[in-house]
Amino acid sequence: MSPVLDEKVEPLYAEILRRNPGEQEFHQAVREVLESLGPVLAKRPELVDAKLIERICEPERQIIFRVPWTDDSGEVHVNRGFRVEFNSALGPYKGGLRFHPSVNLGIVKFLGFEQIFKNALTGMPIGGGKGGSDFDPKGCSDGEVMRFCQSFMTELYRHLGEYTDVPAGDIGVGGREIGYLFGQYKRITNRYESGVLTGKGLNWGGAQVRTEATGYGSVLFTAEMLRTRGEDLDGQRVVVSGSGNVAIYSIEKARQLGATVIACSDSGGYVVDEAGIDLDLLKQIKEVERARISDYAERRGGGAHYIGGGSVWDVPCDVALPSATQNELTGADAKTLIRNGVKAVSEGANMPTTPEGVRILQEAGVAFGPGKAANAGGVATSALEMQQNASRDSWSFGYTEERLSEIMRHIHDSCYEMAERYDRPGNYVVGANIAGFDLVAQAMLA
Ligand code: GLU
Repeated sequence: MSPVLDEKVEPLYAEILRRNPGEQEFHQAVREVLESLGPVLAKRPELVDAKLIERICEPERQIIFRVPWTDDSGEVHVNRGFRVEFNSALGPYKGGLRFHPSVNLGIVKFLGFEQIFKNALTGMPIGGGKGGSDFDPKGCSDGEVMRFCQSFMTELYRHLGEYTDVPAGDIGVGGREIGYLFGQYKRITNRYESGVLTGKGLNWGGAQVRTEATGYGSVLFTAEMLRTRGEDLDGQRVVVSGSGNVAIYSIEKARQLGATVIACSDSGGYVVDEAGIDLDLLKQIKEVERARISDYAERRGGGAHYIGGGSVWDVPCDVALPSATQNELTGADAKTLIRNGVKAVSEGANMPTTPEGVRILQEAGVAFGPGKAANAGGVATSALEMQQNASRDSWSFGYTEERLSEIMRHIHDSCYEMAERYDRPGNYVVGANIAGFDLVAQAMLA
């Protein structure tokens, strides 16, 4: 059972359900924020008078478009493209593009809504947006992905700009896709507008650490949460879900901080490697060959084994880092993790824990880092990329990583302090929601 909504926000939520039928993930994301805001509205009637909640829950603009493309055999396919420009109170719309067959308007709206508060928490001047397509890159050749990206950008370009809307990657969109998209934007507009996309290659306007940033940031956030409890990551057993960009660089940073990452997964199953995941092999399989995790155990030999299907959360650990996709860690998974002694759960993905899962973990006293705080390192480093593009500069890896660490500490501390101020000590969900909302609301009122 979800907590009851405060009487001030209950009718607002009912209206949001009515206006956005069937958009289950969007409802879930809105509800989670509204559950935190009752005490804020009680203290600040001017926000109610200005209809801040109603305004913040309605995207400023939603774009839906046709994306036709031809595969290598000449067959024509038609996909649907989306960009939801949710909120520009703090800066140009900023947020990734997701290419995955599950993408629909409700998913893009949930992601865009989360992005508003996440981006605010970074303290950088960026608004919130998200986009994508129901295109499935799995099994496509480079040429097919290129033609799809070019067609996608042929419509989207008119809505973008370094002062307007700045996409980046998300699931299914990495360096290769950003390259194809940037090339098409440049060709159509005849402008070398570096700051229009982030996640670019290092030799054409990209930033050091951007590739690593979401995973690194998620682990740094975990370390901060543990620090408040007098612990650190050294010697901890860590389980990561997923094996994409976020998972890989979470594993890298966790290892650097002395932890042993013993399991990771993909949509087919998971691998357990008690000696610690071999990062070079994992990168070779996932980043270079774009192959399946089942290959890992086969090639690693020794103690590693692959379990098809099942849940990676069955593997006992001290720290769990859900880094795959939404609603992948359920109430039942939370109970298993608690039984096995988990101390901290930090969301590398967006909304990977179900509301029931979050409640169970928090009630058991597990340190829980919500995605809008824990995974904000990616978009924060995108904002650093925009800064470098605007000043035609490029910073070193060390300097950029130092900036990322400072930002993650700042996000952690603002969530922690806001939770204390509203009498919910240690509740990072409440802290993140109120701290993020406060920044956006102030700007909208102004
Ligand atoms: N897709 C990432 C996120 O969920 C990064 C977005 C960006 O860099 O704009 O925050």
